[in-house]
Amino acid sequence: MTALLTVEHLSVHYSLPAGGLFRRRPLTLKAVDDVSFELRAGETLGVVGETGCGKSSLGKGVLQLVKPAAGRVLWEGQDLCALPAEAIKRCRKDLQIIFQDPLSSLNPRMTIGEIVAEPLEVHYPALARDDRRRRVDAMLERVGLRPEMRNRYPNEFSGGQCQRISIARAMISEPKVIVCDEPVSSLDVSIQAQICNLLRDLQRDTGIALLFISHDLSIVRYMSHRVLVMYLGRVMETGGREEFFGAPRHPYSQALISAVPVPDPDRPPAERSLVLDGELPSPLDPPSGCVFRTRCPLAVPVCITQMPPLSEAAPGHGVACHRWQET
Ligand code: SF4
Repeated sequence: MTALLTVEHLSVHYSLPAGGLFRRRPLTLKAVDDVSFELRAGETLGVVGETGCGKSSLGKGVLQLVKPAAGRVLWEGQDLCALPAEAIKRCRKDLQIIFQDPLSSLNPRMTIGEIVAEPLEVHYPALARDDRRRRVDAMLERVGLRPEMRNRYPNEFSGGQCQRISIARAMISEPKVIVCDEPVSSLDVSIQAQICNLLRDLQRDTGIALLFISHDLSIVRYMSHRVLVMYLGRVMETGGREEFFGAPRHPYSQALISAVPVPDPDRPPAERSLVLDGELPSPLDPPSGCVFRTRCPLAVPVCITQMPPLSEAAPGHGVACHRWQET
């Protein structure tokens, strides 16, 4: 199947100006560094990694909510990174985002009817008022809310209901891609399952593609067709769900997967988890060579000097490790 969205060598950098007691010179934080992937219609690509590994910056860079420092985002034959702001605005009809905190992402002064209708006003200005109202009501129903709730305000709803409103707002313009940035991490577990199932149902019905960002591997396994693992802004491993969870090749992926709780009290703890040593290094001062080397149990001298390329361990399965053939 051909790619709907192609991301090539994308980098997102943040400049930190000099100032204060400890920063005597300006610094560059490489939140995303040389990331490439494809997203196809109807599929979910799960993006995983620890907090601070660049997942959210990747999503924002893809949607041009932050200006990438380098790379291309190819969408319908054009590079979003090279488009002027007006042209990007037109593309937003097809490229939407759902944020982590549903309540703070909704305008508290607008009713939910107004919030969900706003993309229609921007992208379909000729739509008659009654038609707009009908589409909003239908969308509210589709996400599990009652149309008569349209005159209420976000603070009258629970976290799960607010996330349903966010999904309705993202879906109302009939987009082709949605970046879901930790969409369930602020919700209770039972509500997480409802929201995940809602997203899967919407994907089945509309063929929408999802870039699903999460630090929770269990949720990523449930939601994704393919997985991309990030560490300090770089891709460590990428592959199909079954291959990735069945036989992860990168030491970081192996550690992440082994740390997922297994409901099997008969297995000894040592078998159940492989705990990573140390903290995630500062992205302001990443390690030389392989960025994972300071926490990697397999590190060898070459890892200090050379960043491993993403090698194809199997068709569609890439691993960025000098020792991937031994893992
Ligand atoms: S390249 Fe070296 S440090 Fe990096 S993951 Fe592989 S073995 Fe570990």
